[in-house]
Amino acid sequence: MQYEFKKNENTNMRVLVCPNCNEDLMYADIEIFRMCPFCNKSLQQTGELEDFILEPIIQSWVAKYTGQYPGKDIVYF
Ligand SMILES: [Zn+2]
Repeated sequence: MQYEFKKNENTNMRVLVCPNCNEDLMYADIEIFRMCPFCNKSLQQTGELEDFILEPIIQSWVAKYTGQYPGKDIVYF
């Protein structure tokens, strides 16, 4: 399955476009259940999807080591 991503203008974060209903999905929408909260379509696990879900975590690591904040909705672990 090929996923489509686009950039959210406000947060500067990538969002996933649901292949079924075309809603914008934030990583938080799908990090626990790999399904679209709008149409309940389950999303096939791919490397691309994993990268997307891990992206904010990786960015928070990067921010920690570089002192930069990529966005304000980052969850720190
Ligand atoms: Zn959907």
